[in-house]
Amino acid sequence: MSVVDRQEWDVVVVGAGGAGLRAAIEARERGARTAVICKSLFGKAHTVMAEGGIAAAMGNVNSGDNWQVHFRDTMRGGKFLNQWRMAELHATEAPDRVWELETWGALFDRTADGRISQRNFGGHEYPRLAHVGDRTGLELIRTLQQKIVSLQQEDKKETGDYESRLKVYQECTVTRVMKDGNDVSGVFCYERESGRFFVLDAPSVVIATGGIGKSFKVTSNSWEYTGDGHALALLAGAPLLNMEFVQFHPTGMVWPPSVKGILVTESVRGDGGVLRNSDGKRFMFDYIPDVFKEKYAQSEEEGDRWYEDPDHNRRPPELLPRDEVARAINSEVKAGRGSPHGGVFLDVSTRMPADVIRRRLPSMYHQFKELADVDITAEAMEVGPTCHYVMGGIAVDSESAAARGVPGLFAAGEVAGGMHGSNRLGGNSLSDLLVFGRRAGLHAAEYAAGRAGDRPAVDDVQVDTAAAEALRPFSAEGPVPGEDNGRPPENPYTLHQELQQAMNDLVGIIRREAEMEQALEKLADLRVRARRAGVEGHRQFNPGWHLALDLRNMLLVSECVARAALERTESRGGHTREDHPAMERAWRRVNLLCRLTDPTGGLAATDPVRGQIDLTRENTEPIRPDLLALFEKEELVKYLAEEELYE
Ligand code: FAD
Repeated sequence: MSVVDRQEWDVVVVGAGGAGLRAAIEARERGARTAVICKSLFGKAHTVMAEGGIAAAMGNVNSGDNWQVHFRDTMRGGKFLNQWRMAELHATEAPDRVWELETWGALFDRTADGRISQRNFGGHEYPRLAHVGDRTGLELIRTLQQKIVSLQQEDKKETGDYESRLKVYQECTVTRVMKDGNDVSGVFCYERESGRFFVLDAPSVVIATGGIGKSFKVTSNSWEYTGDGHALALLAGAPLLNMEFVQFHPTGMVWPPSVKGILVTESVRGDGGVLRNSDGKRFMFDYIPDVFKEKYAQSEEEGDRWYEDPDHNRRPPELLPRDEVARAINSEVKAGRGSPHGGVFLDVSTRMPADVIRRRLPSMYHQFKELADVDITAEAMEVGPTCHYVMGGIAVDSESAAARGVPGLFAAGEVAGGMHGSNRLGGNSLSDLLVFGRRAGLHAAEYAAGRAGDRPAVDDVQVDTAAAEALRPFSAEGPVPGEDNGRPPENPYTLHQELQQAMNDLVGIIRREAEMEQALEKLADLRVRARRAGVEGHRQFNPGWHLALDLRNMLLVSECVARAALERTESRGGHTREDHPAMERAWRRVNLLCRLTDPTGGLAATDPVRGQIDLTRENTEPIRPDLLALFEKEELVKYLAEEELYE
């Protein structure tokens, strides 16, 4: 029997980004003893990197804005595949979440008359992103951390212990959700520095681990984004929803190679930056799709006038939703009209005075100066698409953020699916994680309170199995039951590179049937080889070992992406099929769910090697009529299936 340290909590939140911290604050305020665990340093979550802002219809800069317009924009951006109730809750609750941040000490940029300033972003009809220069995520996390510290100080006064009701375990990774029957009972974790194993017992677990970008070669995402939460949910028996939808942000750096993929914020375009090809042409005017024709300027003059007079002009097509802009850039490069390093030009230098650029886009100015030796106040940036965000995720209940089918499991933030449909609008992630982080914390606390007299137990056998799984990379030369005995260990870094290359080349921004089939073969091979991923040395801070463990997650999640992408024979949002280029109205009714199942017919598999990813179709829930009434009939005709229009 294993001897690992165990501690009891009511709610465990996995992830300390915006979603995790907001969930933890809510759970603690509702009276639950709450633990937060994160694999990075506390405060160094992915959310910190968010630049542009938080989308919330406060109407501070244009009083025409309100939740209905935000809802409409979000549904249009997601091409109507959004879980509409989530989109509604998000649009109605986002302003309160921003105001709440201000009461907790966030210092937003202001309008001339002293209100929270809001900036333009792609796909948003009005200026809507509350921001702090281009460092909004940093301020968001700083504020949530400050709130956590203040709650801990309250607890110290009452109980004598700062961590009696709210504790952060930093630089610790969760590798398994533990279960008692079908119910969640806790998590299995290891400390990254020492390699020590421990278990946190809890009836409620909120997964808030962010995205999957590190499965792709060119990405704006940092090292944490290895799809852990997605895989933890799959292994615990919860389904993933619509994993084919991966957002390729149109503007990542393309040069020098060491920084390829790093994000160039959309604020650059929101503030007037334009895209040009090697002929100097503003090519986006050639790429306005029919569904957006009436909403976007048809000439450069009109687009330019919009910045000064948005009420009487239409916005420039550089501000189309991200999927449209990414595909357009891809086409220009393919047609031989790209920049020297394989991107296109993004120019603010001829559009704004140098001091304004340095004030409004300080991080971008420094990023290009430091990393590429380019002065963006004097010359154009070179940019191209980069894997940025995953719209697919854990299938959750819209109201409570409860993961489907596993009592006690909740999910919020980027790891949760549904909210953004097939494509997320910029700024909608920070608002999403505040709205649904709070909801997840609230419902996790309520659920835990309901289990106070009936706590699920952590099973010692499961603890032993989780420990053995985590230790396997140290004995990769030893026998692996049922396969490949005697072969040398695999290098986890090599496996990771092969995975990233395959996902980039075969399941990337433009997809084809034969290539995705090839990707699935490659993934199956990698899954088997990853079982023999071996590392040397010991458990004290050993990055090779950490990567060997993360590989399990990236491989499972990548297979879900590839399988769902192969199944969906249409192009919609963040899923573009060269062999099925049109958006098909019939597919709007279809969600794709991935589950890990046991091929021998047993219960949901928990074995990442032998379990197989099963894909099922499910009808989307009909959109409530009063929400449909917010759109013109002519617009709905472009999206909804025949029978939905009839209904
Ligand atoms: P994160 O903030 O990434 O937090 C995940 C947490 O989970 C981390 O603490 C991590 O350590 C932890 N974790 C992961 N796996 C494990 C594990 N196995 N065990 C323990 N802990 C684990 N969105 C906007 O709305 N507006 C913007 O302006 C914007 N700008 C962006 C700029 C960049 C460069 C990038 C990359 C993204 C941007 N986004 C933006 C998207 C947005 O930042 C993310 O979608 C969002 O921050 C995700 O938040 P989260 O709380 O879900 O996850």
